[in-house]
Amino acid sequence: AVAHRFAVFGHPIAHTLSPEIHRAFAAQCGIRLSYEAIDATPEQFPEAVRRFFAEGGLGANVTLPHKGAACLLADEHTAMAGRCGTANVLTPLVGGRIEAHNTDGDGMVRDITERHSLDLRGHNALLLGAGGAARGVAWALMDAGVDTLTIVNRSPEKADELADAIGEPERAHTRYWEDLANLGSFDLIVNATSAGVVGGGLDLPTHLVGNRALCYDLCYGAAASGFVGWAKAAHAKYIHDGLGMLIETAADAFERWHGRRPDTDPVYAVLRERYG
Ligand code: NDP
Repeated sequence: AVAHRFAVFGHPIAHTLSPEIHRAFAAQCGIRLSYEAIDATPEQFPEAVRRFFAEGGLGANVTLPHKGAACLLADEHTAMAGRCGTANVLTPLVGGRIEAHNTDGDGMVRDITERHSLDLRGHNALLLGAGGAARGVAWALMDAGVDTLTIVNRSPEKADELADAIGEPERAHTRYWEDLANLGSFDLIVNATSAGVVGGGLDLPTHLVGNRALCYDLCYGAAASGFVGWAKAAHAKYIHDGLGMLIETAADAFERWHGRRPDTDPVYAVLRERYG
């Protein structure tokens, strides 16, 4: 029998861990599946996704740079995808319709609150970035009960757009990057920029790190080294990279598609060994 087909779409896609994570979950649950990595340029992406589902694909993950396009091409949206405007999980529905969902924010919050046993309630949070991932993270942090959310982005209009979409100006507001020099300290600082991937350094003053602060980078491995190094120099109490988030977001997609919740701990242990 042909194994059930799943895939991740991105550009570039060579270094994705999604196939390995989904295969490990499947082995754990005794499920037979194939999971491929599909490189599609932005021009190719919508057609490639439609073809994948038309040919019987049962679920697709979506990564850089297609999360916005994934949301746009979908016919239906979960509440989370609808409010984020970005999607990392596409699922075929009856009649050839496609549903978009976003697991980024919930995956990050679960990594922080469950794997690392840290409480986010009452935190003053600083979110760096307002791209696809940051949008999911912002909503999930609000849901997780942060006291305030300050959003700072290199292109300030994108931060404003996100804060406007959240629509709780008392709790969620924006500042300019230049304002960081004059802001007080935070309990949570999330790096949701791709600066570590694209090679730019972030200019961050160390006084931003409060005395019980968690510094969290969505990146992992070498891409996280700049922010993690800064957090260490600032004596952050807790420092975590985005490896756990990646695995939790994959687990959410897996549960959506297979109706089974995998145990993320063994997969985390293997990948943590590899990424330090
Ligand atoms: P986007 O391309 O949508 O957004 C990139 C963001 O980074 C924008 O806010 C952009 O600002 C900012 N940025 C890029 N370069 C710089 C720089 N040199 N200085 C300051 N800001 C910069 O990417 P995503 O939101 O999808 O992803 C962001 C990061 O999160 C990526 O590195 C990705 O790998 C990681 N990620 C990790 C996940 C996980 O599971 N661990 C899940 C999703 C993402 P501007 O608007 O001005 O361009």
